[in-house]
Amino acid sequence: MIICTTIDQLRNQVREARTQGAKIGLVPTMGALHEGHGALIRTSAEHGDFTVVSVFVNPTQFAPTEDLDQYPRNLESDICLAQNCGAKVLFHPTAAQMYPGAAPTWVEAMGSVTQVLCGQSRPIHFRGVTTVVAKLFNIVKPDYAYFGQKDAQQVQVLKKMVQDLFFDLELVVVPIVREPDGLAKSSRNVYLSPEQRAAAPILHDSLVLAQQQWAEGLRNAAELEQAVTAKIQTSPLAKIDYVKIYALPELTECTQPMQGANLLALAVYFGNTRLIDNIVLEDK
Ligand code: AMP
Repeated sequence: MIICTTIDQLRNQVREARTQGAKIGLVPTMGALHEGHGALIRTSAEHGDFTVVSVFVNPTQFAPTEDLDQYPRNLESDICLAQNCGAKVLFHPTAAQMYPGAAPTWVEAMGSVTQVLCGQSRPIHFRGVTTVVAKLFNIVKPDYAYFGQKDAQQVQVLKKMVQDLFFDLELVVVPIVREPDGLAKSSRNVYLSPEQRAAAPILHDSLVLAQQQWAEGLRNAAELEQAVTAKIQTSPLAKIDYVKIYALPELTECTQPMQGANLLALAVYFGNTRLIDNIVLEDK
């Protein structure tokens, strides 16, 4: 695996691979890689792509009050994991390279898809995500770009960006990778105290409960949200940011009764650590 720290180095690697007939797969990450990221990298490598993993803690998706400085960083172990999962290139740029010039150019998706859920709790977050991902798409020009269902709203926002800006690539969504007790793997799980870590699987348990109620025929979004909320509130360590259901793909209000595919998403604090998780409710 080759490590590129400049945009020119990366472009040269990608150009050479393409000349040899390879398809290019891009896996954008913020590092502190774990098996969730590993699943994305493996999916790309097994698909036969020349796989580029970017490791960049993108400052523009963090508000000044958020955890940019504390965000876990471990390039050595990121290099090992990416290599073991089949990546061909790891791209690790500086913020100055990704954001040249005194003022940025933003890429911003509008509408309910960026306004609800994390868009409400973190107002500048998705503008930062779409801007940095658009930059990465323009640098790498991938044939395939891999994202995790863990960040379900991000997937919908990026699908909209790809469609609206005519990016010539296929966006591939990889299922959520979980710990054996159901907690979704996340770089932020390392912040949890042993007590918080022991309590955190309540998030997945609450989603499983909603899945059961859906399977039994409940089609009322407010009642499903209430059941999930009540389950999470059985843990005194959990402080709910949101538990909400919106209709896919645009994250608009659900019909009553619910129809089609719907995203049940939650964000919950354990101490200062904010965890997210989700499930899709739809008739098969
Ligand atoms: P991050 O480094 O947190 O920005 O995540 C980079 C990519 O990995 C995003 O597309 C995430 O959705 C994905 N990802 C993170 N955690 C998981 C997980 N537990 N399962 C699947 N994908 C994940």
